[in-house]
Amino acid sequence: MKKKICILGSTGSIGLTSLKILEKKIKFFNIKVLVANKNFKIICEQIKKYKPKYFIISDKTIYNKVLKKYSKRKIKILNDFKNLSSKEKFDITISAIPGIAGLYPTLKSVKQSKKILIANKESIICGWNLIKISASKNKTKIIPVDSEHFSISKLIQNEKLSNINKIYITASGGPFLGYKKNQFKKILPKHALKHPKWQMGKKITIDSSTLMNKIFEIIEAQKLFNIPNEKLDILIHPNSLVHAIVEYKNGFKKFLYHDTSMIIPLSNAIFDGDLNINEFFKSKKNKNTVLENLIFKPVPEELFPIIKLKKIANEYPSTPIIINASNEILVDHFLLKKIPFLSIFKIIMSILKDVNYKKYAIRNAKNIEHINKIDTWARKTTIKKIKNLYG
Ligand code: NDP
Repeated sequence: MKKKICILGSTGSIGLTSLKILEKKIKFFNIKVLVANKNFKIICEQIKKYKPKYFIISDKTIYNKVLKKYSKRKIKILNDFKNLSSKEKFDITISAIPGIAGLYPTLKSVKQSKKILIANKESIICGWNLIKISASKNKTKIIPVDSEHFSISKLIQNEKLSNINKIYITASGGPFLGYKKNQFKKILPKHALKHPKWQMGKKITIDSSTLMNKIFEIIEAQKLFNIPNEKLDILIHPNSLVHAIVEYKNGFKKFLYHDTSMIIPLSNAIFDGDLNINEFFKSKKNKNTVLENLIFKPVPEELFPIIKLKKIANEYPSTPIIINASNEILVDHFLLKKIPFLSIFKIIMSILKDVNYKKYAIRNAKNIEHINKIDTWARKTTIKKIKNLYG
């Protein structure tokens, strides 16, 4: 029987990489549901190529356009993931819609899938408790595919958490690692979007340039592996080849090294490690087989003030929801050149000092509606602060 696949965010970086992997062994897979937002051209290409049973398109205008174009075809075009019948079941769902927008589809997919590959770190940060409870109830296997977390999951497999001294998550340092402090004032979106190592969607690329991505990954690791904050740290590793290092009490340090490509965690997660990776690379792309000149160093805090959030990101149960929501708004405004790069950190700090912050942050969100309330407060407050500062 072919494995039934659902991809949340099929037209994005993770979605396209996943489809490239699946395509290589397509006779084993049935691409049943694809979900996207605005990319009309790729949506049409994917309908033609993969013939999914459903395509779910969130953007209303694009949804109507696609619906009109394919009205005579068998495919079911929906406008909301909520409308997907709960009777549809999947062997594998790949969750790759960025931001909190990915949380609802991820939660619904947990109920309908045997295995979920989660790239959408924001849903782990904001809704892990809900995902965890539902996964255990529905016997759904959760595999984090963020390269650092995929590596950690492999490194700590069959190990006792009490034997771990420390886990280091590595960071390439992004495009501004070599910058002087005074250069940060002049950063434009086009500079921040040039990641030296990874090709990813816009939101995560900006988060990588501020290092907010690493704060999210620290929270993600705390939640996924039940590791306390003080046992987690970040190391700058410009080579982007070692993705995590685990230091054990017995003096051993284990690390996981692989080529700078999401093909590796994604394909290993799809095939449960039973694969020959060279089948998934064009020519000799997977060529970093020699360990040489690996550099690891502490994060220069004076350049990346966001790193200060590490200590307070878990101050209250819903602090991560607030930081995430505020950051999403700020990244959007920065991309539209409405705020300078440095104000991303400054405005997040002002949200964490807002008179109403604690009232929302101390809430223990028990369902998605609670999460949405906290998220909405943080978004509105961030927009107000932006208006006050920049009109
Ligand atoms: P992209 O921006 O490249 O792709 C986003 C995808 O989600 C697109 O298919 C987009 O559709 C779709 N989408 C966006 N908003 C909605 C919505 N409201 N409803 C339905 N679909 C939507 O992002 P990435 O692939 O880079 O990242 C996806 C997630 O994976 C993020 O959470 C990121 O942090 C995480 N991640 C990514 C990595 C990477 O290498 N890219 C590595 C590790 C984690 P459309 O294109 O049609 O607008």
